[in-house]
Amino acid sequence: MQSIGHWIDGKPVRGSSETTAPVTNPATGAVTGELALANVADTRAAIDAATVAFASWRDSSLTRRTQVLFRFRELLSERRTELAAVITAEHGKVAADALGEVTRGLEVVEFACGVPHLLKGGFSENASTDVDIYSIRQPLGPVAIIAPFNFPAMVPMWFFPLAIGAGNTVVLKPSEKDPSAALWLARLWQEAGLPDGVFNVVQGDKVAVDELLDNPGIKAVSFVGSTPIAKYVYQRGTAAGKRVQALGGAKNHMVVLPDADLDLAADAAVNAGFGSAGERCMAISVVVAVGGVADDLVTRISARAARIVTGDGTGGAEMGPLITRAHRDRVAEYIDAGETAGARVVLDGRNLTVDGAPDGFWLGPTVLDEVTPAMSVYTDEIFGPVLSVVRVDTYEEAVALINANRYGNGTAIFTNDGGAGRRFQHEVEVGMVGINVPIPVPMAYFSFGGWKNSLFGDSHAHGTDGVHFFTRTKAVTARWLDPSHGGLELGFPQNK
Ligand code: NAD
Repeated sequence: MQSIGHWIDGKPVRGSSETTAPVTNPATGAVTGELALANVADTRAAIDAATVAFASWRDSSLTRRTQVLFRFRELLSERRTELAAVITAEHGKVAADALGEVTRGLEVVEFACGVPHLLKGGFSENASTDVDIYSIRQPLGPVAIIAPFNFPAMVPMWFFPLAIGAGNTVVLKPSEKDPSAALWLARLWQEAGLPDGVFNVVQGDKVAVDELLDNPGIKAVSFVGSTPIAKYVYQRGTAAGKRVQALGGAKNHMVVLPDADLDLAADAAVNAGFGSAGERCMAISVVVAVGGVADDLVTRISARAARIVTGDGTGGAEMGPLITRAHRDRVAEYIDAGETAGARVVLDGRNLTVDGAPDGFWLGPTVLDEVTPAMSVYTDEIFGPVLSVVRVDTYEEAVALINANRYGNGTAIFTNDGGAGRRFQHEVEVGMVGINVPIPVPMAYFSFGGWKNSLFGDSHAHGTDGVHFFTRTKAVTARWLDPSHGGLELGFPQNK
């Protein structure tokens, strides 16, 4: 069993805290690591390192910063399968899916390689006679990133490439459930030539998070996790005067109109519902079958879902285990509750076993039909391999259902009617919309984020929102001395 600690000022650090948490391989149930949970002093050590490093990193040239980013990009690209294996060992997602996560993070690194262009300000010559005005973007200082378990590499990479490229320094607090990917990334930064202290990792729980939220040394917080914690982080962080973006939970609906290609829609629902065992914030968890498509669609979805091979992500499986035994049991309880409330269990994953791995946290793909909006399986984010089908008569009912939902992360519509797709993108109250695309995660040069209870704050991740979030602007008004500019003038300055 390995001992897992922090990464502070370019070195692995055990910290002074006596508190630890076990890290588990979800496919075997075996405890593989003992994680140090930071106390306040350990967290402050990381913040102090980031503060010291900021003084020189903020002054490093754009050329130097981009050279480090390009080197980091090259190393990550070369070794992506190594990182994917680290993710699978603690998260459980299958190797191909872990590789996909790394690749989507890599895209943000590539976007950040263009940071000199992204940081350019504006310039107006002769705004007043012989007076120029221009704007410059400057880094904020040390920033904190607090990550969830489900994307231990990609979610931090939504933020840190731009944060670092813009001249900030970082303290990353990974999830306690899969802490090793962050340490792997820290070592890679060092190899890429990033100065010590610019990127730090502090392992921990609420104690570390609260210190990051309260400590005046941290200037901004990027959080991703469940909605109650996102709201808490947003409120506490902004109360301490910080800039906060806090991305929360989701309940993503996929609408299938009667004219849709049902084979395409069934493939999409299964891929988006059961990929990563449903533990994605952009997973489809509700299929909204419109008009007469439900019977046919449910048959096609169930037939496909029944063929999914569940097992250890390092082998040939298509779907891995859930993150912990407690989470696995909670998801199974939601299925029980749905069944009791009258949902029809078309495919039941509750009794799944996997040969040779009796202690893994297994739950097979489950399809519930005739789910109603009053059932807990509909109202709550389940975060597991459970696809609920809600039947409605019209397009209007489908949109009203989505707009009444408290979450607004992602949604999709499947149709061959361009007008319906266009109307949907206009009317639906959700931050990321797919038209015949089930998981509409925007590319790095657009911004990622939901609406309503899926995001607290006004900045989404990466893209132009990311550049704005990690910089503050200064407007400079300049006049170079000229003998004609003398004299007293006590009135408010006006342009001449
Ligand atoms: P979580 O909210 O339990 O944990 C997220 C982070 O908050 C972790 O680092 C954890 O250590 C910390 N934390 C947990 N409890 C805390 C507390 N009481 N005080 C302070 N910090 C605390 O989330 P999770 O289970 O790790 O991740 C799954 C959730 O994340 C799902 O709800 C999912 O939808 C969401 N998520 C959202 C997005 C998005 O883009 N909106 C992306 C990925 C995951």
